[in-house]
Amino acid sequence: MLRTLLLELAKSSRLRRWITSHGTTRRLAQRFVPGEDLAPALEAARNCNRAGMTASLDHLGENVGTREDAERACAAYTEALERISAGDIDANVSLKLTHLGLDLGQEFCAGQLRIVTRRATDLKNFVRVDMEGSACTDRTIQIVKQARAESGAVGTVIQAYLHRSEQDIRDLLSIGCRIRLVKGAYKEPSQIAFPGKKQVDANFIKLMKILLPSGIYHAIATHDPSLIEATIRFAAEHDITKDKFEFQMLYGIRTDLQSRLVRQGYRVRVYIPFGKDWFPYFIRRLAERPANLLFFARNVFRQ
Ligand SMILES: Cc1cc2nc3c(=O)[nH]c(=O)nc-3n(C[C@H](O)[C@H](O)[C@H](O)COP(=O)(O)OP(=O)(O)OC[C@H]3O[C@@H](n4cnc5c(N)ncnc54)[C@H](O)[C@@H]3O)c2cc1C
Repeated sequence: MLRTLLLELAKSSRLRRWITSHGTTRRLAQRFVPGEDLAPALEAARNCNRAGMTASLDHLGENVGTREDAERACAAYTEALERISAGDIDANVSLKLTHLGLDLGQEFCAGQLRIVTRRATDLKNFVRVDMEGSACTDRTIQIVKQARAESGAVGTVIQAYLHRSEQDIRDLLSIGCRIRLVKGAYKEPSQIAFPGKKQVDANFIKLMKILLPSGIYHAIATHDPSLIEATIRFAAEHDITKDKFEFQMLYGIRTDLQSRLVRQGYRVRVYIPFGKDWFPYFIRRLAERPANLLFFARNVFRQ
């Protein structure tokens, strides 16, 4: 219930103004978002590289209302790809299609994505298209398939909480698409999504077992130790070596587990968000874990 309430509050512009204008909350958000500009994100990515991990930079933003905003987001992504290359940093980028104007028209958005994937292809890099709420799933998959027909430098995300995900995975595997498997971070109705953690976890494992033997390089993105263990066990039993897939985790979450996996020889990529529009991302992180909310509330009300 708390999760549902927080995800609803993420839509409130008053709460957004209050949270983003206070120094204390901005400082607390830095646990999950290293900064509002590209420079601190690049520095965080360099630190990941030094610790034996790769990174994926996410320029925060979603549901833009004008073409100019979408074009600005597109330019920010091409700049990030160029600075990653110039800095010899081992990182790619992750983006949301509603940040590139999905709500303004599918063709327009596909055009913006094409600009980013062409730059990524030229620079021998990769673009991951994040998966948003279920209203975007069909359009996201269609645009990704269209983009993949032109370049292999793009992949997407599948959410284990959706009933449809096994079918989507089979569809995307048939075109060789790289997939990041996640549990899913949005509020979805029980008609289309598994309601409980147990069922979501079971579906996550089922989907992981389809992805790993496919011969395509996929990402298993979770901080859940039992799902990580299940992945490690399955890979070992099926002779899927450690270089054939990667684990992914979010910046600032379970850094102990990230380091442990690196020590064990697994590939780990850290998802590093940056930008001024950090409010919805921050609320989703609070919603995932009641302890985060308590920590946040204690610090804010101590002021
Ligand atoms: C790299 C990456 C990319 C993602 N991309 C997408 C996407 O495109 N679309 C989408 O819908 N979702 C995305 N997600 C979010 C995902 O769907 C989950 O909401 C999120 O990962 C939490 O689920 P979990 O698998 O870690 O398991 P959970 O069962 O939520 O958590 C397992 C354990 O991880 C730790 N943990 C998890 N979350 C937090 C937190 N916020 N703060 C502190 N500890 C925490 C806790 O120890 C917890 O017990 C992404 C996640 C990752 C790691």
